[in-house]
Amino acid sequence: MDMGLTKDDLDVRARAREFREKFLFPNEEELDEHDHLPEATESQIRQGVLDYRLNAINHAREFGGQAMTMVQQCIVNEEVGAATNALWGRVWQPPVCLQDGTPEQIEKYLIPACRGELRTSFCTSEPTAGSDAGGVKTAAVIDGNHYVINGEKCFASNAEFADLNLLTTIVDSDPTKPTLFLIDKGTAGFNVRCLPRFAQRSGHGHPELDIEDMRVPTTQILGEVGKGYELTKDWFVEARLAIAARSIGMAIRATELALEWAREREQFGQAIINFQAVEFMIAEMATDIMAGKSMLYRVAQEIDSDLDRKTAHAKASAIKLFCSEAGFRVVDKAVQIFGGRGTMCENPVERLTRDVRLERIWEGTSEIQKMVMGGQIRKRGLDMYTGWD
Ligand SMILES: Cc1cc2nc3c(=O)[nH]c(=O)nc-3n(C[C@H](O)[C@H](O)[C@H](O)COP(=O)(O)OP(=O)(O)OC[C@H]3O[C@@H](n4cnc5c(N)ncnc54)[C@H](O)[C@@H]3O)c2cc1C
Repeated sequence: MDMGLTKDDLDVRARAREFREKFLFPNEEELDEHDHLPEATESQIRQGVLDYRLNAINHAREFGGQAMTMVQQCIVNEEVGAATNALWGRVWQPPVCLQDGTPEQIEKYLIPACRGELRTSFCTSEPTAGSDAGGVKTAAVIDGNHYVINGEKCFASNAEFADLNLLTTIVDSDPTKPTLFLIDKGTAGFNVRCLPRFAQRSGHGHPELDIEDMRVPTTQILGEVGKGYELTKDWFVEARLAIAARSIGMAIRATELALEWAREREQFGQAIINFQAVEFMIAEMATDIMAGKSMLYRVAQEIDSDLDRKTAHAKASAIKLFCSEAGFRVVDKAVQIFGGRGTMCENPVERLTRDVRLERIWEGTSEIQKMVMGGQIRKRGLDMYTGWD
């Protein structure tokens, strides 16, 4: 088995690394302090994404994407994911399910989104539908050649400014008919109720929405009525691997910083790296990173070699679970090694603490990943997790 990176993979890594050093790391503190960046900076970052060919890494060239392999997508997410304050979000990856649109929808939404000219949000969560996404109540009722949609959403990242909002609904009040609608910015009835404050300061919000008598043409359905969850399955694999890659990126950065600090900080007349308690923490951090990275890239390579969709979905849960939990353990140890200075906002490890905590929650909490795995093991046995062909 060859697990090495190809020449193209190494080129992708070099580009992503240079991009983050030039455009993401230098803007972290300002974003953390003010919770926004000047428009001129945002526009430089956008141009940087294009210049470094990091736009729409998850989409085909025919739509204007970079057509990266899953391994390469993980490489990019690992590199840019190391930036704090969710600056990785500036490297746009439009929802993969937009590829299932009609030719008109692809022309109107996907192609501009790949160019970075159209920003998206994905609105599924509701006050009573969190982990249980099947509990969505936002209702779409047919009225001639329109649907009338009513409901409420929460945690709708970027919906306060997105040009296109992918909205999960239930048609005919029938939970077996989950359906995705494409909602243009400014559609009457799509209202931001409030923008709660969150621990992470990324310059983007996660608003609560009121959807009131919103009339949407039937042509705005993505895919078919009842296919809403089916369409998000590939997204889940991609998003969970991206979270795992970011968690690894954060863990590596935190470990590098903690190691450098442990070498220079002296207490009791010597560098603290000489204390076994500190050295052991670094050894544990390296082990978590090595384990997470190994499983992530192995499965990414399997996906690139046509792993079936069901198995990819099942394995993505184990990877998201392990890497997000490991990332959290590692960043927490980095703070410990820095001592009091690890809790200063100017220290990247403090900001990483706030960022990495989220990775255990969104796109399915750790408990939900275990539930997915438990169900798969009951139905199909252990082999997909423990076997080695
Ligand atoms: C910053 C942020 C951004 C987000 N962005 C988006 C977005 O853009 N679009 C979107 O749709 N959503 C978004 N979300 C929502 C996110 O996906 C949910 O927060 C997540 O799925 C968990 O749902 P919940 O918060 O309602 O927790 P709950 O579902 O209420 O869970 C609470 C606790 O109960 C546990 N639990 C629940 N069910 C079970 C079970 N069956 N077995 C064991 N334990 C269980 C959970 O693991 C958790 O520990 C975002 C969330 C955050 C915090």
